[in-house]
Amino acid sequence: MALPRELKVDRKASRRKDAKAGKPRIPKRTAEWRRPSAKRVRALRDRLREIYGRPVNQPHGDPVAELVRTILSQNTNDRNRDVAFDRLVERFPTWEEVRDAPTRQVESALKPGGLAKTKAPRIQEVLRRIGDPPDLEWLREAPRDEAVEWLCELPGVGRKTAACVLIFTWDLPEMPVDTHVHRVGGRLGLFRPNASFEEAHDEMLAITPPADAYEFHINLIRHGRAVCRPKPKCDECGLSRMCPWRKARTAQGERVG
Ligand code: SF4
Repeated sequence: MALPRELKVDRKASRRKDAKAGKPRIPKRTAEWRRPSAKRVRALRDRLREIYGRPVNQPHGDPVAELVRTILSQNTNDRNRDVAFDRLVERFPTWEEVRDAPTRQVESALKPGGLAKTKAPRIQEVLRRIGDPPDLEWLREAPRDEAVEWLCELPGVGRKTAACVLIFTWDLPEMPVDTHVHRVGGRLGLFRPNASFEEAHDEMLAITPPADAYEFHINLIRHGRAVCRPKPKCDECGLSRMCPWRKARTAQGERVG
């Protein structure tokens, strides 16, 4: 079976080296990586859609809530995030009240979500910086790069959090790269192997048609949670025939999945 273009190697030279070293060798894919074609991205999107369905974004239009919720999601799972968020808005009905409360009270509300000692002062500082009353509506009409750059100046806010605010609040085309998207996208060759989260984010934005951003983001996460886990279940994977990571390893006689 022909290897995909991005994995083509000088097989003879490779084998000579392997024999000399006395061990199997994984091709140096970093140097040979090519940005995937639009056709390949579409094929991956379609295959994921067959497996996981077509998620539809339901933008809620509340950027401050999204920003707070995303800060709460850092280093914890969705359930803990939601518990912490619900307790916060139940105890403090307005963002001004969250901002002006004694930090210990905010910490106490956030406790079930974990890292409350870090997140409580962070959220209060963010709320102090976004106007009085706290307001982010202007981001909707701002040029995208300006909006992301401005959000990333806030304490504890990086590219992923900024992207979450834009896509989940207003369905603006963004591609938050979390640990699942980073792992699965890297294995599928959507960006360079060993790319940083920032580089992966830029690449994902570049290759994903705006109309597909939400769907691709959600389905890559679903795939990362269900199958392409840190220890991947390649034998059960509906994308295995399209996966350069798996092909490279099986070509070298490595057992995967
Ligand atoms: S074949 Fe394996 S590594 Fe590739 S996407 Fe599927 S589970 Fe992940």
